[in-house]
Amino acid sequence: MAGNVKLEIVTPDKAIVNEEVKIIMAPGSLGEFGVLTGHTPFLTTLKTGIVRYTDAKGTERYVFVNGGFAEALPNKVTILAESAEKREDIDLDRAKASQKRAEKRLADARNQEDIDAVRAKAALDRALVRINIAGLR
Ligand code: ATP
Repeated sequence: MAGNVKLEIVTPDKAIVNEEVKIIMAPGSLGEFGVLTGHTPFLTTLKTGIVRYTDAKGTERYVFVNGGFAEALPNKVTILAESAEKREDIDLDRAKASQKRAEKRLADARNQEDIDAVRAKAALDRALVRINIAGLR
């Protein structure tokens, strides 16, 4: 049977996850990847998305991550993200407000040159992924 992998998820502000887990799926820039114990080491950038892992007790867990990168060693995965929250820490009302704000900016961007549509799209993406995770089980 495969052993556990240590998973660390940190942001500039704080440590979000630091525990032994069984399997990890993470949103790499080139596509989602999975890590079990004993794999070949690699380094990848991440896109905004969901880190899913099965904890030591066998419970499936979900964490929002916004960008950053992941280093996978045979027995340890380190994720450095710009922002991250566990599913249970996501404030759904805040994410919905952020979605509305970003959608308004994108609508306004059609007839105003000073609004940064790329930035608004990234904010909308973060809000929609948070809303999606908050609704998982
Ligand atoms: P907002 O527009 O609501 O600030 P954002 O996508 O711009 O959202 P981020 O820059 O990703 O926010 O994160 C800033 C900080 O706020 C981080 O510490 C992040 O964990 C936290 N955060 C942002 N949105 C939420 C949320 N909906 N629930 C819980 N924490 C959040």
